Amino acid sequence: MFERCQTARIADCADELRDAALDDDLAYAITEGLTTEIGPRLAGTEAEARARAWAIERLRALGFSNVRTEPFPLRTWMRGEEKAEITAPFPQPLVLTALGNSAATPAEGLEGEVVYFATLADLEAEPDANVAGRIVFVDHAMTRTQDGSQYGAYGAARRSGPALASRKGAAAILIRSIGTDYHRNPHTGSTVFPEGVAPIPAAALSIPDAEQLERVVERGQPVRVRLTLTPRDLGMRESGNVIAEVPGSDRNAGMVLVACHLDSWDIGTGAFDDAAGCGIVAAAAKRILDAGRPRRTIRILWAGAEEVGVFGGRAYFDAHRGERHDAAAESDFGADRVWRLRTGFTGTAEPINIRLAAALAPLGIAYAPGRATGGADVGPVIAAGTPGIDLNQDGTRYFDLHHTPDDTLDKIDATQLRQNVAAWTAMLAIVADAEEEIRSDSATN
Ligand code: ZN
Ligand code: ZN
Repeated sequence: MFERCQTARIADCADELRDAALDDDLAYAITEGLTTEIGPRLAGTEAEARARAWAIERLRALGFSNVRTEPFPLRTWMRGEEKAEITAPFPQPLVLTALGNSAATPAEGLEGEVVYFATLADLEAEPDANVAGRIVFVDHAMTRTQDGSQYGAYGAARRSGPALASRKGAAAILIRSIGTDYHRNPHTGSTVFPEGVAPIPAAALSIPDAEQLERVVERGQPVRVRLTLTPRDLGMRESGNVIAEVPGSDRNAGMVLVACHLDSWDIGTGAFDDAAGCGIVAAAAKRILDAGRPRRTIRILWAGAEEVGVFGGRAYFDAHRGERHDAAAESDFGADRVWRLRTGFTGTAEPINIRLAAALAPLGIAYAPGRATGGADVGPVIAAGTPGIDLNQDGTRYFDLHHTPDDTLDKIDATQLRQNVAAWTAMLAIVADAEEEIRSDSATN
């Protein structure tokens, strides 16, 4: 099938490699294996360590070079018991889950009056005296979009809402889950309490429960909630990145970095987020490995501790900032089809865009002008000037599943997963083997 690749350059075989990848089984096998044999992989835990050992064994068996772990220390948070109920005026249970880095309530729970805010901006504008000692409830209504872009704006309620509530003296905070489904599943995710801001109990209500609480508040009587969360800070533990390579033929060329994250939240098995991403990048790199030797080294990064604050991505950048990265890309948006290509190739590298657009067009992928932003784990490398490549996945149902108990293997559509592998394979064939010089904007990486 790859006969031409034995004599021709890999870049000349991009179309054949792409079409062959539409029969790929490796990305699914990796996704199935990781979610079945490891399951949830919360950063810093023993499960995440088992995932690294699993990854090392799997990547070595596939024939990649320089397969290794790069460990780093991580302050580790672990979920405990979590329950809540409306105690007045209409007593009934609520379904919620703690946000990562949430403080614990007393073991017997914490009861307080609910103070409602439709948006994070409303909470910000509220005088502190109206918030102090109360349980803040931040509501909002994120909707589905193909590009998932509402996560940026609405996700702020989760990322910075708890710290804002703490600064205003709130006893605890409940948010409407950052999600788009109507299952009675809360969406977890991490929040940040900056230095000097006391952590408070912080949890996300499932969307049906958030709407229920909103209706109760609308009745106009004082609303009281009892909340019990018992997460623990386990102190400093170990996390780590897993790295593997397809060696390039030109020592003077830079490398192409392709990433995903190995850790997951603890309440699902992290199939969409992000076992599938690890399957996609490794399956595509394996196809290049089997086809011959590209000009540039392809480095696979299965990052640790992404969910809890992109610690793996930063550790990678700190360890490898002196190396030459010619391009960086990440798969971390589920497993549905790729619909859009964006790159950061300009100047002498601009012709690569034309070849990428042509090779990806048969897969239904549109070339979009504008600069690629990459994913969280390659963010620091791209921010330092390395061109990014975005193979954007259809995110229409991503936030139905994201960080919920519903993020499990059965949600993976094998046909769409194969389209991803085909897109990444064609991209790697073209970019890793491009003859053009790819210049970074910055000399520091
Ligand atoms: Zn992710
Ligand atoms: Zn995530």
